[in-house]
Amino acid sequence: MSVSSDKARTGSCLSKKVTFKTTGPDINCAVCHCTNCRRNNGSTYTVKAWFPDKRFKFTSGEDLLKQHDDSDTNTGGIVNRWFCSHCGSPILTRSFRVPGISIVHVGLFDEAWDWRIDFEQWRKSRMSFVEDIPGVSDDCRYYDFPDKREFERVMAKL
Ligand SMILES: [Zn+2]
Ligand SMILES: [Zn+2]
Repeated sequence: MSVSSDKARTGSCLSKKVTFKTTGPDINCAVCHCTNCRRNNGSTYTVKAWFPDKRFKFTSGEDLLKQHDDSDTNTGGIVNRWFCSHCGSPILTRSFRVPGISIVHVGLFDEAWDWRIDFEQWRKSRMSFVEDIPGVSDDCRYYDFPDKREFERVMAKL
């Protein structure tokens, strides 16, 4: 959850062909160290802010979106990972575990908002040089799956 208020935020992929807008505060912000997330963005971990679908809107380039149905998951469920087919930037994830929520890569936003990380998950596959994520309380650093109270907390905000 970020400190920011109801301000609208904008973002885009690298080619700026896909653009979007969010309104209001994020309802969760999480770091994931899992192998699929690392591969998804080619880096050490993903950082994604969660918005109710109704507060996330594409403003251009929706026709360029491609969806990868990631079925090689720890739950066995399918996670939809959307990306820009023009430049390859990962854009967002939608998951059966949290229906109605757009899970957006924070690196896409036009400004470096003061995101605050609520929890980090899949620390079992965390890269050796990655330190504890600052600002996360110790009981919100998960070895693998987050506790279900994290989902209950988020779903209560929908
Ligand atoms: Zn693009
Ligand atoms: Zn992950």
